[in-house]
Amino acid sequence: MSASVIDFVATEARFGAHNYEPIGVVLSRGEGVWVWDTEGNRYLDCLSAYSAVNQGHCHPKILAAMVEQAHRLTLTSRAFHNDQLAPFYEEIAALTGSHKVLPMNSGAEAVESAVKSVRKWGYEVKGVPDGQAEIIVCANNFHGRTLGIVGFSTDPETRTHFGPFAPGFRIIPFGDAAALEAAITPNTVAFLVEPIQGEAGVIIPPSGYFAEVRKLCSANNVMLVLDEIQTGLGRTGKLLAEQHEGIEADVTLLGKALSGGFYPVSAVLSNIDVLGTLRPGQHGSTFGGNPLACAVARAAMRVLVEEGMIENAARQGARFLDGLRDIRANTIREVRGRGLMLAVELHPEAGRARRYCEALQSKGILAKDTHEHTIRIAPPLVITTDQVDWALERFAAILTQDFS
Ligand SMILES: *Cc1c(COP(=O)(O)O)cnc(C)c1O
Repeated sequence: MSASVIDFVATEARFGAHNYEPIGVVLSRGEGVWVWDTEGNRYLDCLSAYSAVNQGHCHPKILAAMVEQAHRLTLTSRAFHNDQLAPFYEEIAALTGSHKVLPMNSGAEAVESAVKSVRKWGYEVKGVPDGQAEIIVCANNFHGRTLGIVGFSTDPETRTHFGPFAPGFRIIPFGDAAALEAAITPNTVAFLVEPIQGEAGVIIPPSGYFAEVRKLCSANNVMLVLDEIQTGLGRTGKLLAEQHEGIEADVTLLGKALSGGFYPVSAVLSNIDVLGTLRPGQHGSTFGGNPLACAVARAAMRVLVEEGMIENAARQGARFLDGLRDIRANTIREVRGRGLMLAVELHPEAGRARRYCEALQSKGILAKDTHEHTIRIAPPLVITTDQVDWALERFAAILTQDFS
């Protein structure tokens, strides 16, 4: 690392809370699948800011929409109407087939808003006695970092010394429909689940699981809440990951790529019943639904569809997955993925995934380890065939080394 890089890193360490442990690269520019560090080295971004930049870095059309809107009007609060919110509602509803939309900012806020809404639905529509609502969630979930959400995490790192936590959550294993059936009670208002567990290491449930989940939720009048904040908006090669399962959620959560990485924009999408319970004054957000966010989100959704990014994710994801599976290396325990949401799980004896990510960095690839032994791979959805092949060569070179 050069003197200037060490300076940035040291200054962050000196003043910042140490709640992250970044790889030692200081980025200053991005375009499409590429990012550059302060010394001009170029890297293929295989994290895409946890799938927030599905559309590629600094997409020119999203940038133009943002700049244009920033010149006109940025924030009105919801005390007044603005001329971007209605078209945003229309476009996101048309894209996803949803009936009602609640705009928020971060993903965690969308999750919190869904928790509040399904509880309210439970009391006012389903008839659950006040204060008794139960929400079922899965072990190894990741739904964000707010107090409400970390309270139903099973990761000790995430929870320890942040309590006391809110009651009303039951935890079951992911991918186990029988466990869901057993956990449902008359007070269950919702099952909150990721279609593919992202932070847990790209865990894909057994086929047929979600069809069974859908049936159980419908039969028991339980709202199926799919957290598609990471899996949604093309990441898995379909607009929503639920489409791989042939089901429809009652409530869908979007965030991250809803703004193409320009700005925090999230949304709760639901049938009429759930969001229909919210009345004026009962929930809100100063920035939620602001004109700048709406203009950015409209452009982010438009380019995703117009530029064929979802189909490209399916095509390039299949190529990437095949290519990773062809790598003969005894460091690899399993390769898995759907669309461009991929992971290489290393044998525990192969050493920590972090070492492999650092080695990949030296070859011009930025990827992120998760849970000690897993390298996740999630490039922007605009990646080309040549770029996939370029990346595969480098993955092969690194994975055939031994960093134990
Ligand atoms: C990132 C993520 C969140 C939280 O989003 P933030 O914008 O970081 O609050 C929630 N759920 C899933 C599945 C995520 O990947």
